[in-house]
Amino acid sequence: MVNDQLLSRTKGSGKNEDSIEFEPKLAVDNLFHLASAQLENAISVVSLDNSLRTILLQPKNELIIHFPVKLTSGKVALFKGYRVQHNNILGPFKGGCRFHQDVYLDECKALASWMTWKCALQNLPFGGGKGGVKFNPSEYNVEDLERITRRFTHSLGLNIGPDWDVPAPDMGTNAQIMDWMMDTFSNSVAPLDKQVVKGVVTGKSVVCGGIPGREEATGRGIVHCITHWAKEKHFNLAGATLAVQGYGNVGSHTAMILSRMGVSLIAVGDHTGYFIHPEGFNPYKLAEYCRVNRTLKGYPGGEQISREEFFATKCDLLIPAAMELQIRQAEAEQVQCKVVVEGANGPTDLDAEAILERRNIDIIPDILANSGGVVVSYFEWLQNKRSESWDITDVRTKLERRMLQTHQLVSEKARALGKNLRIAAYVIALERLQEVYSRRGIWP
Ligand code: NAD
Repeated sequence: MVNDQLLSRTKGSGKNEDSIEFEPKLAVDNLFHLASAQLENAISVVSLDNSLRTILLQPKNELIIHFPVKLTSGKVALFKGYRVQHNNILGPFKGGCRFHQDVYLDECKALASWMTWKCALQNLPFGGGKGGVKFNPSEYNVEDLERITRRFTHSLGLNIGPDWDVPAPDMGTNAQIMDWMMDTFSNSVAPLDKQVVKGVVTGKSVVCGGIPGREEATGRGIVHCITHWAKEKHFNLAGATLAVQGYGNVGSHTAMILSRMGVSLIAVGDHTGYFIHPEGFNPYKLAEYCRVNRTLKGYPGGEQISREEFFATKCDLLIPAAMELQIRQAEAEQVQCKVVVEGANGPTDLDAEAILERRNIDIIPDILANSGGVVVSYFEWLQNKRSESWDITDVRTKLERRMLQTHQLVSEKARALGKNLRIAAYVIALERLQEVYSRRGIWP
């Protein structure tokens, strides 16, 4: 049962059911603007049924919770948590849980909608969801993080569940946070259900029911997309150069896997600074440094550069793997790469996309490029449902097959439509959703 008191259903403005309301003070940088504009672009190509357009332009449910936590200092602090459930016609809502000081409702709405398209594109039996808590996790000790995570999970109550809404790691969260979420949820259900609800979150540690290969999955999926792109372009990856913004889960795994293929990481940056090393960083040492220090700050290698210099670095592959809206007009004019591979969600705005297209720089769009994470989350969810333990070789083989097949489908669709990969990916996702809606209808 969904807690109807907590859920507020989006009803449109009243004047016009199709109009979209944005959070006004954030209108300039509003991520939901970008998500809605991308959707409208694709709709103009796919001739989507108008009632389906109305449904898909807004999330089904938007949940905001204020919850108190007694911190280790003895102080009681109030936190703001979000969960947005965009669409579940294909299966349970699915999407990350973000811990970051800038999390806001329209961001969660955009990210949740991208999950709907991502799952439909990958033909997964999931819908789209996203959420998080608005705070900076690096300012809290481990015990406080556990208290915040458990209290948030408890406050979400039955608004999440293995067959209803399944969170996963995202920015600022990891396997440990997922373990706490799963443990809290499973302790809130009847004793007989304790084991069957392990799939309430994915991205857990392997010992707690996670699947081997989930942590690297998004990065590995990105690498499969790059391999597919390189094959199509007759581009030799051995000896290629790489710049990565954000060296967390997605950025570091991508760089480490690419290094085994002879790709050299020559520029890297995070919220604390940017660095260049023309001979190439050791991506493993960099990852270990970030694991211990939580940032790149103080890394004893490479030369410090500005953010502008980072984006202007001449390289073959540029991977934004940090925050959204990082590549805008200025960055798009500056970049000197062959392809932008969107590890992050929504890193490129529409103006930048047009400039990159004009400059013949390819974009592998987020809903394709970073979909390896949710593909392996699906494997974990299946594993939990069946009480199985999957092998890493199986996970990697199945992930590779699915990423390459989907990329092939998107490339073919793009050629058939004469459109870019983003539009093609959206069109595939929307056509799948449209088919299901047309068969099921709108009840009553
Ligand atoms: P993470 O928390 O592990 O790492 C984020 C990185 O970005 C860190 O290095 C951080 O320092 C850096 N960063 C944060 N703010 C920044 C800023 N303003 N400028 C530059 N760098 C900044 O997060 P992650 O899981 O690697 O996620 C990164 C992106 O990938 C997000 O957009 C997320 O939604 C997306 N994504 C993640 C997954 C996943 O499986 N983790 C799956 C799909 C998409």
